[in-house]
Amino acid sequence: MKRLIFLGPPGAGKGTQAKALSSTYQIPHISTGEILRRATTAQTLLGQKAKVYMDKGELVPDELILDLIKERLAQPDSKKGWVLDGFPRNLAQASFLEQLLANLNQSPDFALNLIVPDEVVITRMLERDREDDNEDTIRRRLQVYRDDTAPVISFYQERGILKSIDGNQSMEAVTSSLQTLVES
Ligand code: AMP
Repeated sequence: MKRLIFLGPPGAGKGTQAKALSSTYQIPHISTGEILRRATTAQTLLGQKAKVYMDKGELVPDELILDLIKERLAQPDSKKGWVLDGFPRNLAQASFLEQLLANLNQSPDFALNLIVPDEVVITRMLERDREDDNEDTIRRRLQVYRDDTAPVISFYQERGILKSIDGNQSMEAVTSSLQTLVES
């Protein structure tokens, strides 16, 4: 049973590493970005609303995200653990999650912070083929990360569950560092 939260800038490899841990521990990989992209493709009301923000590299408003994560963590498969990727993205979401988990009698084991230099994440994002991966949007996403998401690192540091990992290594090396860490 593992309950894991991934932190780190866009392009740090959170998705790839979250999938690897999800498969190792047989726990659901919960990516708010993927849920939103699916909603956008399906052109649901949520998807239509979210797309406006995603295309600009802005965070989707909390009111659209908080219900979504609450419902996802209430699904039966989330009882055996989970790995969160892309949530929480600001302090309000971190506090909401803390309260939500307290109500479910759960607590996260680790917040895993992938550290990768800006120039590396920019190159990685430019190599992806995602609609929101153009240069202007990438620059905005990094700024939003610094302003809104980076404070979440201290939030988990204060709670004693933060683990920082050098994400600027091969994918396999990062996966193996993470696995060692999560087992400790
Ligand atoms: P990601 O796949 O995690 O990089 O997310 C892609 C985009 O979805 C972000 O740039 C945001 O616009 C939106 N998004 C994903 N997760 C969240 C979240 N927790 N809060 C607000 N917006 C989010």
